[in-house]
Amino acid sequence: MDKQNHQKSIPFDYTRLHTYSGYLNDKDKLLKSASGGAVTAIAEEIIYRGGVVFGASYSKDFKRSEYRCVDNLDDLELLKGSKYCETAKEIIVENNQVKSVFSVLEDMLNEDRLVLFVGLGCDVGAVRSYCDNKRLKTEKLFLVDILCHGPTSATVHRQFVDNLEKKYKSKIQQFTVRYKKEGWTPPYIHVEFESGRVYETRFYDSLYGFAFSNFTRESCYNCKFKGENHKSDMTCGDYWGLTNSMSGWNENGVSIMIVKTERGEELIKMLDGANYHIEEADTAFALENNHMYFECNKKKAYYNQFGKDVSERGLFYAVMHSPISVKAKVKYALPKNVIDVLIRTKHKAKKILRKV
Ligand SMILES: Cc1cc2nc3c(=O)[nH]c(=O)nc-3n(C[C@H](O)[C@H](O)[C@H](O)COP(=O)(O)OP(=O)(O)OC[C@H]3O[C@@H](n4cnc5c(N)ncnc54)[C@H](O)[C@@H]3O)c2cc1C
Ligand code: SF4
Repeated sequence: MDKQNHQKSIPFDYTRLHTYSGYLNDKDKLLKSASGGAVTAIAEEIIYRGGVVFGASYSKDFKRSEYRCVDNLDDLELLKGSKYCETAKEIIVENNQVKSVFSVLEDMLNEDRLVLFVGLGCDVGAVRSYCDNKRLKTEKLFLVDILCHGPTSATVHRQFVDNLEKKYKSKIQQFTVRYKKEGWTPPYIHVEFESGRVYETRFYDSLYGFAFSNFTRESCYNCKFKGENHKSDMTCGDYWGLTNSMSGWNENGVSIMIVKTERGEELIKMLDGANYHIEEADTAFALENNHMYFECNKKKAYYNQFGKDVSERGLFYAVMHSPISVKAKVKYALPKNVIDVLIRTKHKAKKILRKV
């Protein structure tokens, strides 16, 4: 697609943005990151310089996602990967005291620490407003937002996790929605239980995947942090549109980094080539393949009923009573191994029928 055609479909002036793509050179580290690990690479640099990083991690029991402030590489592991549900804005600090993420961030800025805040666009917007309202010194604050169409509800996540624990009669000890079983795509949900058993299925074939695609927070359908209104220094996401014949490809994930400010460029300069492979990328091409930078998803007609059903009857009921095809319902209702057996049986039956 040529640049003129890009300009027609991108409804804001993107020409001042600078765009880069990249991936972690270490394959094991890359496999643990959601996309190309841009956020992890930047966070590592902040920590090497004595700074702190704010991001989302699962709680110890994996029942919710919550913001956390980390200052070392071990804890940074907890932030890796996408959390596709709402993230609590409280942080548990010393003596089990609970503080808002904003007030912990204020403490860090007041201590003159280098601070990297990574979050969804609206959370970054809230941090920016908090700092402005309180007239905080922000020379050492770097803001990175994650390209998004919105997370699904915390209730969906909680129900999904509770149901799995009930079914597998064991506590969860590892949970990810971006497991790279076959490389970057398709993403898998991968869950490990204390019993040693594992649950694994393609994310978008799961009830969770359905809710993530069709049931995000109400405000996400009218998001105020798109296009020219990103409040971050840099936006990170997946470099959708890239194919294996193009420069910068990595089968295990590639990030896109869309830089808006001088401070965003500073983050790019911090990246160490030995750790992180980085290339300049075409902004128009990146945006054309990732409309969520400037567009909202459309709310489904069954949105309200789905939310009511999730609260009153549970996630499984809600998906089964959504206006989707019978084939799709079978996909969501049956465990993946049963579907595989059915497909194999169908192919065998077809072969036998052809012979008679
Ligand atoms: C709800 C949601 C929707 C998304 N939709 C899109 C999309 O439409 N298009 C696209 O290109 N990319 C989307 N992404 C972003 C993508 O999934 C990756 O999170 C992003 O590319 C960063 O990958 P990475 O490899 O650089 O990060 P990693 O190195 O894996 O680190 C992940 C970082 O993201 C932060 N993070 C993860 N989940 C959350 C969360 N819920 N709230 C706040 N911070 C979080 C973590 O704290 C961590 O710092 C979405 C992410 C989320 C959470
Ligand atoms: S779509 Fe907008 S409102 Fe929804 S989580 Fe993302 S930034 Fe926030």
